[in-house]
Amino acid sequence: MASADIREQLEDSFLSCSICLQTFNRPKALPCLHTFCADCLRDYVTSRYDAIGHFPCPICRQNIALPTGGVSGFPNNHFIIGLCDAVHGSQRAHGTQEGASRPKWSGERTPLLLVAQNNHFAEEKPNQIIRRFGQYGNTQNQMRQPTGIAVSPYTDDIFVTDSGLNTVTVFTATGNVIHSFACDCSVRGVAITRGGTLLLVVSNAGNSLLREYTIHGEQLASYGSFYSQENPFGIALTSRNQAVVTSLGQNCVHILNSRFKPSVRFGSKGRGSTHFSMPYYVAINADDELVIADSGNHRIKIHKLDGTFVREFGKQGSKVGELFYPMGLCVDRYKNVFVADANNFRVQVFSATGNFIGTPVKDTFEYGLDVKPVNVAFLRDNVLLVMLRGSRFCEIQAYVIDSEKYAPKKSPKWTDCFCC
Ligand SMILES: [Zn+2]
Ligand SMILES: [Zn+2]
Repeated sequence: MASADIREQLEDSFLSCSICLQTFNRPKALPCLHTFCADCLRDYVTSRYDAIGHFPCPICRQNIALPTGGVSGFPNNHFIIGLCDAVHGSQRAHGTQEGASRPKWSGERTPLLLVAQNNHFAEEKPNQIIRRFGQYGNTQNQMRQPTGIAVSPYTDDIFVTDSGLNTVTVFTATGNVIHSFACDCSVRGVAITRGGTLLLVVSNAGNSLLREYTIHGEQLASYGSFYSQENPFGIALTSRNQAVVTSLGQNCVHILNSRFKPSVRFGSKGRGSTHFSMPYYVAINADDELVIADSGNHRIKIHKLDGTFVREFGKQGSKVGELFYPMGLCVDRYKNVFVADANNFRVQVFSATGNFIGTPVKDTFEYGLDVKPVNVAFLRDNVLLVMLRGSRFCEIQAYVIDSEKYAPKKSPKWTDCFCC
């Protein structure tokens, strides 16, 4: 593909705002991962939604809370800014002529990497992809907006929810589709109960928060009856089968007991240690602590089951250890946290105490210009599933991870002594 075509493709699918259809001017990124010009967004919000403090994203209709200070409070999308500069810089350098010897686009390092070079992605040997499965589309067994992912500890089957089609698709561990079923409500996160059933976070399902299904798609029960304003999203189950559910509507976290009756609720909107801003996803670590992606605050928070704040890490940015709308996460046996750092097109790993320790997956824009990792899950100890999503792309990728690479380093004092 010639460089003029590449520029055109970049302009059309990556660098133009879908409100004004022009090249981005001061691009602002929303928590749903869509980006618009600051002025376009301000016009859109103030003309219709200013007084109510939240608005639907013009593309995906997700309800977005307006930050204090209005539209300017959304973070700048530095990746897009850098990309605009790189593309327009190269356009100036090349005029409108086709560059004869530009490298090919498909997966090779082309203009995007001009940006990535100063993007401070950690140097780390890329992990091996052993499998890619799932397909974008509207028909049976295809996906449009994959959202939740859970692996059955009993069968290794992989359950993927689609919040665009409101379906659940079941894959074998090797990525073959077993079957899929549709729900008559909105579906978000998914977890596997101790009894081997599916627990789905639902919306527009009366006022229920959760529905329980068999793995074959028969509805068994629904839970919660007063949750109409919640806009619930993520779910994880503790070792004692308590359900932890995040709420985008209330910026809080609900803990339901093992019979899925409400027990604890904590959190409210803000930036402090008791606050959240769009907490999309949650995972549970080996100590039954909650690990929450506080996406709109670009940080990960750890809380105890009673809601007590333990620690937080990460801040907005694209340098090593920084986050830009972190989405799905999972925790390994060392309590390391694997985070889909969506708007940085990578998966980062942090130790239990929040130190950055690796970037096992990066540069996901190589699979498509707007393809971001939105969720992660472990298939086995050493196989990480990464859910990728773009405007016309969906895929689950399985990476072999050397789990010992991220094992906590023993300090010399702790060296095992075999003589006593
Ligand atoms: Zn615009
Ligand atoms: Zn959106």
